[in-house]
Amino acid sequence: MKIIPKLTAALVAGTCIILGANGWLRVRRERRFFEADRIRDHEIVGRSLEAAAAAVWKSDGPEAAIQAIDAVSSHSKTLGIRWIPRAQTSRLDTEAAFLRGLPAGEPVTAAGGDGGHGTVWKTYVPLDADGVRQGFIELSEPPSAEDRFVRNTVWDTVEMTLSLAVVSALLAFVMGQWLVGTPVQLLSEKARRIGRGDFSGPVTLKQQDELAELAREINAMCDRLATTLDHLRHADRLSTVGKLASGVAHELGTPLNVVGARAKMVSAGETTLDESREYASIIVGATDRMTATIRQLLQFARRDTSRKAPTDLRSLAADAAELLRPLAKQARVDLVLAPGSGDATADVDGGQIQQVITNLVMNAVQAMPQGGTVELSLDTERLEPPAELHKPEGEHLRLRVKDTGQGIAPEHLPHIFEPFFTTKDVGAGTGLGLAVTYGIIRDHGGWIAVDSKVGQGATFSVYLPAPGNP
Ligand code: ADP
Repeated sequence: MKIIPKLTAALVAGTCIILGANGWLRVRRERRFFEADRIRDHEIVGRSLEAAAAAVWKSDGPEAAIQAIDAVSSHSKTLGIRWIPRAQTSRLDTEAAFLRGLPAGEPVTAAGGDGGHGTVWKTYVPLDADGVRQGFIELSEPPSAEDRFVRNTVWDTVEMTLSLAVVSALLAFVMGQWLVGTPVQLLSEKARRIGRGDFSGPVTLKQQDELAELAREINAMCDRLATTLDHLRHADRLSTVGKLASGVAHELGTPLNVVGARAKMVSAGETTLDESREYASIIVGATDRMTATIRQLLQFARRDTSRKAPTDLRSLAADAAELLRPLAKQARVDLVLAPGSGDATADVDGGQIQQVITNLVMNAVQAMPQGGTVELSLDTERLEPPAELHKPEGEHLRLRVKDTGQGIAPEHLPHIFEPFFTTKDVGAGTGLGLAVTYGIIRDHGGWIAVDSKVGQGATFSVYLPAPGNP
């Protein structure tokens, strides 16, 4: 259940409880007043009737007194009045012995049986004449007035509770949505973007409260994270350059030898003019190749901010393979490029994707100390991204780096993308390569998957949205 319906339900329940309790207390209080009022009325009427009947009894005899009571009874609309002779006291609702002991004219009121229509209040007034208790005048009142009051109060309470519940539910819902629901939704969208590695687009809330403060803190945290990530990527790039440099230095050895030998021959004057020209053009060719290799390395090392542009991943993979080949050759690893066919253009930051390819190929090379094969391939596949990306099925470019190395131990698999996790010796690994790779791919709206069997090798697959698939 979401927070706003929860708050609304709590408020409505609270309102109902308070109003219900208030209604119940009111009914109880008013009922007590009713009862006290009724007893008082019964006593006044009973005493007067008893005094009058006793006087008639004395002057005109019992029949006249009973007739007088019956006459009053026939005129009374709300009160039931009847004469109960002493001989019939067993018909009384109240204990006869107790009533018999009452002083003359002293009424007693009690709640009697309801006959299925609610409580009936009965008052008995003892009538004494000729020094003997002759009987009782019974006053009874049906429960209609009190019941009506209780019913009305209950209805009033129900109506009031319902209208207040509706109003408070509406208010709670609207205010809750405005003050909590919408800001929390914006904050969770931002958190989801952070989870995907996207630190851009600060979240701004209109209100000035704790949630706005939280939003400001999250924005500041994103800025710091983006800077840290940038530093990490650069650190990883420099560490990669260090490793590549040894391969490049080795690669430069052969053309440098050629240049040196040819230049020596020309400077010794042992060559004809035509030969000198030919050697000079060989030297130019060799230096051009060396310059290109060094430029590539420097370009890779350069720190630059993320710039996405439509890029041909196929030629990017070919460039990366060229830069990596010397290192692979040195480690007796065959670097095979299977570029595939069809359009492989994607909106990416070329420098960052090259860093990804370089990291994956270098890891593959390092996983094969005895040499082996690394296959770098590119193809397209239609598939559904992992659930945490919240994206629909679509066309994706898949960059795959497959090696025939030692593979990854199952206990290491859950950790390989964590920053600073490495199984390599000090100096050989920083533990940054896969963490940086993961961040870059997430930045591009893609994901990375790994499949590995110990002793048989590992395959890293990088998925990037194809053009037209946001
Ligand atoms: P580093 O290479 O500096 O150790 P990475 O983040 O690139 O840092 O890699 C983390 C760990 O993942 C490596 O130390 C290694 O244990 C494992 N790993 C990565 N790629 C492979 C691979 N192709 N084969 C075997 N293990 C690998």
